[in-house]
Amino acid sequence: AKEKGRNNYQFFSKDMAFVAARKTALEGDLNRAVINKEFTLHYQPQILAKTGEIIGMEALIRWQKNDGSIVSPGEFIPLAEETRLILPIGEWVLYTACQQAKKWHDDGNSHLKLAVNLSSLQFMHDDLITTIQKVLKTTGFKASSLELEITESVVLDDAEKAISRMQTLREIGVQIAIDDFGTGYSSLSYLKRFPLNNLKIAQPFVQDMATNPRDKSLVEAIIFIAHSLDMSVIAEGVETEEQLALLQDLGCDEIQGFLFSRPLPVAHFTKLLMTGVTP
Ligand code: C2E
Ligand code: CA
Ligand code: CA
Repeated sequence: AKEKGRNNYQFFSKDMAFVAARKTALEGDLNRAVINKEFTLHYQPQILAKTGEIIGMEALIRWQKNDGSIVSPGEFIPLAEETRLILPIGEWVLYTACQQAKKWHDDGNSHLKLAVNLSSLQFMHDDLITTIQKVLKTTGFKASSLELEITESVVLDDAEKAISRMQTLREIGVQIAIDDFGTGYSSLSYLKRFPLNNLKIAQPFVQDMATNPRDKSLVEAIIFIAHSLDMSVIAEGVETEEQLALLQDLGCDEIQGFLFSRPLPVAHFTKLLMTGVTP
């Protein structure tokens, strides 16, 4: 969005006035949403590429305002980061997702891994470790079943601090995934230094790999590098049979995408656990 703004600077003031007005309105709404707990979580299955079995799920936040309108996380998460409201929101997400996943575990699906997104601000915040320990203790959810998804941007502020934070999390038993790999400030040197369990290939590569040989080569290289470093690889945004076949062929470990299922509300996801998924 920033780049677009730069290229179209002649429209800057008009666009900005509109964006700013919407932003100010949203900010007030977001404040109220936190107080009134207007958020819910949806869950999208993560599938083992070899067997088609559901092995986990990513929790994705949803916000439906009182008037019924839906604001996408792509719009309100950046705002929540800017206003630091992401801290209480993020804690709510972590708690609610662990509580729900614990129920699924207790109902006979104790193999399921829960993936939760953390924004950089949350990840670097001083209270993170305490918060996670508190949530795990209160919900009774196993640390080893929890995976935190962070993006490459966490390294921007303070790489040393980010690494030591990851090490502490790994000591607790929590897994770490790097989200949207390949879109940010990817560097091979940090892949080596970061104690990561899982690498998520960013959607654009996955979506273009069936039509563009260069994207396919990149996906192949990413899988190779990840495996060399003992990390497992998940492809997200998988929408077609063709993409699935290619990814299976290239040895990708896990698959997530609309081909198998959209993110679902709790009741639907519970049903899915009983029926399983098919592409
Ligand atoms: P993300 O973490 O990369 O999540 C994946 C996004 O891709 C989700 O969008 C999901 O619905 C969508 N998706 C999944 N499969 C497909 C597919 O096959 N095709 C396409 N086109 N899209 C697919 P969503 O739920 O709108 O979330 C957008 C972003 O908002 C997330 O991207 C994440 O960065 C952020 N977000 C969502 N929930 C949370 C949260 O609880 N905390 C934080 N900090 N960020 C969150
Ligand atoms: Ca994610
Ligand atoms: Ca992602």
